[in-house]
Amino acid sequence: MTESKPNSFRNQPDDRGHFGQFGGRYVAETLMPLILDLEREYTAAKADDSFRAEFDDLLEHYVGRPSPLYYAPRITKELRKEAPKGKGAQIWFKRDELNHTGAHKINNCIGQILLARRMGKTRIIAETGAGQHGVATATVCARFGLPCTIFMGATDVKRQQPNVFRMKLLGAEVVPVTSGRATLKDAMNEALRDWVANVHDTFYIIGTAAGPHPYPELVRDFQSVIGREARAQMLERTGRLPDLLVAAIGGGSNAIGLFHPFLDDPSVKMLGVEAAGHGLDGDEHAASLAGGFPGILHGNKTYLLQDEDGQITEGHSISAGLDYPGIGPEHAWLKESGRVEYTYATDKEALDAFQLLCRTEGIIPALEPSHAIAAIVKIAREMPEDSIVLANLCGRGDKDIFTVAEALGVEM
Ligand SMILES: *Cc1c(COP(=O)(O)O)cnc(C)c1O
Repeated sequence: MTESKPNSFRNQPDDRGHFGQFGGRYVAETLMPLILDLEREYTAAKADDSFRAEFDDLLEHYVGRPSPLYYAPRITKELRKEAPKGKGAQIWFKRDELNHTGAHKINNCIGQILLARRMGKTRIIAETGAGQHGVATATVCARFGLPCTIFMGATDVKRQQPNVFRMKLLGAEVVPVTSGRATLKDAMNEALRDWVANVHDTFYIIGTAAGPHPYPELVRDFQSVIGREARAQMLERTGRLPDLLVAAIGGGSNAIGLFHPFLDDPSVKMLGVEAAGHGLDGDEHAASLAGGFPGILHGNKTYLLQDEDGQITEGHSISAGLDYPGIGPEHAWLKESGRVEYTYATDKEALDAFQLLCRTEGIIPALEPSHAIAAIVKIAREMPEDSIVLANLCGRGDKDIFTVAEALGVEM
């Protein structure tokens, strides 16, 4: 789906899955044949018009794409109040929260289940942390009538009961993982183990732009529908490209999906926003780039939250979808190459931004994109009035109202 051009930021990874020094496929030998098989099939699928046509058709009629591109007049005005004269960028949103299931994750799940079917696989597995990727996977499995097993840390199963129930309603089996700390990392390990043991019939749907090659590439390609649409919509509406793209980062799939189609547009700046939780001083955050260092997890080399012994540490964020302990390898490379800038927002800043969007635009965002909005609150006032900031509104906030109520001390 990506054309290869010299000197392009869009021609990574290399044929062994490296984004600069990051990425790759650090997997057990038993997994290698599966990974190579997947890579072969994905290469064939990319070149197959009928694969692309089926993907596009489902995105249109099942997911509800294209999602709107929305100019947000009242938050723009609100942020201009604090800005010097002539400053205060126009704020625009890509409305991916309007997708079926309420977030961007479904784009990737549709792509991967079509790949699974193409490979003749009859059973789907996935890992999930907060449960959102589990729900999106269970959704596409119901749609295609495939049995589905979701690995979820036992701690998360307890914390995320509504999503566990959603997955069960959709027909999935949820397997609580009790090893390690019984959270996302352990669920990922368990899913990889299951995959090796059941190669013949099983496809593993990874939920973010991470994992061993070719997952970071294929998840990016499936999510790039966000940026392709946004680029065309912006040109049609304003006759020009945005000045700055902003997206929240857990593993980085919605961000790379927005950024990738713009990477070779030098006038477009980009900002990824990690979750700084209670702040970067302690370890109560989920900012892998700002507060971690390179290591290997989930089959690829990237920035990770880890202690001095290289043990993966548990991230914290008010938003359950952002506490992935790593970040997709393409982001690690985009940071080092300087093409994309990365910053962070705390729980408190995200909570304020969440309320601001509710009141100014009548949109209840998920806590994840609230981190992107928090970053915009800080920078829009320094940009000229005729500049355009485009943020990905990657999820809606229905799932988060109980968390927000608790954080605000409201009894429901
Ligand atoms: C899962 C999730 C995220 C984080 O995942 P990325 O791969 O970084 O996009 C962000 N926003 C929402 C709404 C999510 O559900």
